[in-house]
Order: sequence, then C-alpha cells, then structure tokens
Amino acid sequence: ERVYRVTASAVGHGSRLHVLLFKDQSEARRIDRMRADFIANASHEMRTPLASIAGFIETLRGPARNDPAAREQFLQIMQNQTGRMARLIDDMLSLSRLEMKPYLKPGARVDVRQVVESVVDSLGPLAKESDLVIERDFADGPMETPGDRDELYQVFENLVENACKYGRDGDRIVVSIARSDKAPQPGIEVTVRDFGPGIPEEHIPRVTERFYRIDSETVQSRKGTGLGLAIVKHILTRHHGRLSIQSELGKGSAFTVYLPTN
Ligand code: ADP
Repeated sequence: ERVYRVTASAVGHGSRLHVLLFKDQSEARRIDRMRADFIANASHEMRTPLASIAGFIETLRGPARNDPAAREQFLQIMQNQTGRMARLIDDMLSLSRLEMKPYLKPGARVDVRQVVESVVDSLGPLAKESDLVIERDFADGPMETPGDRDELYQVFENLVENACKYGRDGDRIVVSIARSDKAPQPGIEVTVRDFGPGIPEEHIPRVTERFYRIDSETVQSRKGTGLGLAIVKHILTRHHGRLSIQSELGKGSAFTVYLPTN
C-alpha cells in the first residue's frame, strides 16, 4: 500500500520522488528480509532444545531404561530445556506483540522513578541470590516521560536482570536516575551499572541484535534467549528514547537509557 501511494505521487513530482520510491521499496525489502531472518533464527533456537529433548527420550527408552541415576539426570536436563523453550516463546511473543501495536497510547505519562523503584524492589532477591546488592542513586524532582508503564518496566527489568546474571564478579549494582538537560532536548537518564567482567569491545554494537549472545563460558552458563536487549531497544525506539552501552573488560558495564520528558 505504501509503495503504491508513493508511486502515485511520483507521477506529478519529477525525479526526486523516484528516489523516494526506491528507498521505500528497499525499506520494504529490508523488513521482509529481517522477518525471514527472524523466522530462520527463531526456528533454529527452538530446534536445539527440542532435538536435545528428543535425544534424551530415546536414551531413556533404550540404554538408560534401568538406570535410575541417569534417568534423574536426563529428566533434569529435559526440564531445563523445556524452560529454555518457554523463555524463547515468551520473548518472541513480547516482540511480536510490540510489533503488532505500532503506536503508543497518546497522552499517557509515566513516572520513571516510580517504575525503576518497583523494578529494583522486585529484583532485590534475585540480586541477593548472586551475592549482589542493588544501590540506588535517585535524583529528586519530576521524572515523567510520555509512554507505556508496562513497556518501560520491561526495559529496566531486563537491564537489572542482566546486571544480576552477568555482573557476578562485582559486589553491587548501581542504579541511578538523573535529569539530563543535554541537547537535543531535555530528558531523563537511567543508568544500570555493574562491576562484572564487562563486554569485549567488538561485541558491544551487536548485543542488541536479536538472539545475539556472547560465546563465553560465563554467558552460556546463564539462562537467556538473546532477545532481552533487542526488546529493550525496540521499546526505547517507540518511546523516542535511546540506549547507550559503556563497558570495560574486567571493570564492568553501564547501560544508560535516555528518555525524553516531552
Ligand atoms: P540474554 O541475557 O537473554 O542472553 P540479552 O539480549 O539481554 O540476552 O543480552 C545479550 C547478550 O549481551 C548477553 O547474552 C550477554 O552476552 C551480553 N550482556 C548483556 N548484559 C550484560 C552485562 N551487564 N554484562 C556483560 N554482558 C552482558
């Protein structure tokens, strides 16, 4: 529909609009390619746990039939794999739900400090499990942004969960909120900082890609789908916000979310 509309208006406006038409078609092709890639990656990610479960069922029926210790171990692995599939499905549903409602409800405003506060409250126990404490450094004053509370909750939840999962070498996580009056417009900055292993420089631009996980022992041993930061980025784009990542090997990472105040 979009391509057709541009074609029609191009008739009266000369060559400049041909460029527009070309851009529009290539954008449509890019989106088609992204969809196809997503389906291919998603199918692959789902096949892996499924193949593992199928393999263990086979073994349980055959060689391990009369070995209670092996049976227990294999059932545990199968349970972990079903958990992995459930997480993948939840994250993929999150992404597709976001894509199906392209616009935010106009007029709604969200108190960012209150959202961050409730994320930190509810993830305190998770941090404790990893021997981490979450420190708060919250500035005073109004911290409202236009947007959707549940979506922003998901943004901060993902970032603090990641800090808990990947920041274990440190002893704390620091969550700070401040007003930012930097150009191009005033806004709110929320930073989630951990003192874990950090992210190798070449991976930093890629961690927000769908299904991207760093191929290290620590990362692979933590539960995850590689979709968390892709969801974060998607939500922030809808909110006219940004994510910036600073990380230093052996020192930790800081994920900063910028949200406009109007
Ligand atoms: P997931 O956590 O499900 O793997 P994410 O999209 O949330 O997926 O993160 C992608 C990858 O980025 C992670 O697998 C990890 O390799 C890296 N990463 C994210 N947050 C951190 C962090 N705080 N410290 C180090 N690495 C991180």
